[in-house]
Amino acid sequence: MIAAAEALERLRDGNRRFAADVSTHAGTGFRTRRLETAPNQEPFAVILGCADSRVPAEIVFDQGLGDLFVIRVAGNIVAPSQIGSVEFAAERTGARLVVVLGHSRCGAILATLEELARPSKEQSRGLRSIVERVRPAIEPILLSQITPTDDALIRRAVRANVTASVGHLRHGSEILERLIQTDGLVIVGAEYCLETGVVEFFDGI
Ligand SMILES: [Zn+2]
Repeated sequence: MIAAAEALERLRDGNRRFAADVSTHAGTGFRTRRLETAPNQEPFAVILGCADSRVPAEIVFDQGLGDLFVIRVAGNIVAPSQIGSVEFAAERTGARLVVVLGHSRCGAILATLEELARPSKEQSRGLRSIVERVRPAIEPILLSQITPTDDALIRRAVRANVTASVGHLRHGSEILERLIQTDGLVIVGAEYCLETGVVEFFDGI
């Protein structure tokens, strides 16, 4: 089992390689690792990230097959199925670090800000379920005179949403609470920058 602190260092190192464009896991050469990991998985970290096509966790942290247990959903929200996935990963695979990974200019955050500014009845039930999960984190920081395209507001909203998801994971599951208190599980929040490729860890570090 790899301790949370070491897992975090691996992620930081991998992200530095990615941001510097010297990734080691790109391309081919997966066969050996595929055979190694086929019998069972031992990922060293769990990533709950956004489904955005520009933020694939394995690539931005420069990791390979079997290294990360990745859950992706628009807006990196925490609904019961995300809690269950993290519980499964922490209990069954031994991963001791969980990262909630938001990112700049997240479409789910923008959609929620737009909805708060101009409520619409045309949203599908599915999309509404995501907006409703993001809304409580963002509502307190939304000032009425700011438009949903204000950059500073969007940045604050992205981080508030990550912090809310971290809180839901820390306190929304007896299993995870127990693992945090007695078994070295650590849940942290981070934001990925689309332009620079850099992940900044900012919650729980
Ligand atoms: Zn997103």
